Amino acid sequence: MLKNILQELQKTNTQLVAVSKTKPNAAIMDLYTQGQRIFGENRVQELVQKYEELPKDIQWHMIGHLQTNKVKYIAPFINLIHSVESIKLLEEINKQAKKNNRIIHCLLQFKIASEESKFGLQLDDIINYLQSKNFELLQNVKIIGVMGMATFTDKTNQIKNEFEQLKFIFDTLQQKAFNNNPDFKEISMGMSSDYTIAIEEGSTMVRIGSLLFGKRN
Ligand SMILES: *Cc1c(COP(=O)(O)O)cnc(C)c1O
Repeated sequence: MLKNILQELQKTNTQLVAVSKTKPNAAIMDLYTQGQRIFGENRVQELVQKYEELPKDIQWHMIGHLQTNKVKYIAPFINLIHSVESIKLLEEINKQAKKNNRIIHCLLQFKIASEESKFGLQLDDIINYLQSKNFELLQNVKIIGVMGMATFTDKTNQIKNEFEQLKFIFDTLQQKAFNNNPDFKEISMGMSSDYTIAIEEGSTMVRIGSLLFGKRN
């Protein structure tokens, strides 16, 4: 399965985040030995434990809701945080990154789904902040793109529209807040059920779990 997906992603130069949440170390090592190095988790405790037990050249991505009081546990090693959905959280990541003498890469998560439960920022709020002095002071975080989750539905058109929204948000931020800085370049969108649509809409990074590891319990 990994080979097939990678072959497909290669055509558009899209990165694969293998979402290993709830899966045992052996399942991760199976993909690791096939060459996969980027793994995504959504719970801090599980992420820290896997980091400690597995090879150190794995790049761990935090993809789930992150509470500010837990940032300190992942700050020493996390490679990318996809789920920055408040300014308060971004400032805490900066603080903990500084303590660890690191610059932590982050994605801004936007709410594109129609479902109530999905977390995310609003575009207007964040543009003002990104142009402010307060943001300039954050020397230990680097925002390299955006992330979003489409509604869980089989209506292809709706999913397509939501991914288009995220692409629009990315383009707007790239112009208005990042002055076309080439480091701002990632659009993390697409999961097992909708990643082919996401790629068509400009995804640079897909987060795939069940298609690689089998269904979660
Ligand atoms: C679980 C999860 C995924 C992967 O979902 P699959 O449907 O198993 O591919 C992707 N992104 C986020 C944020 C997740 O929580």
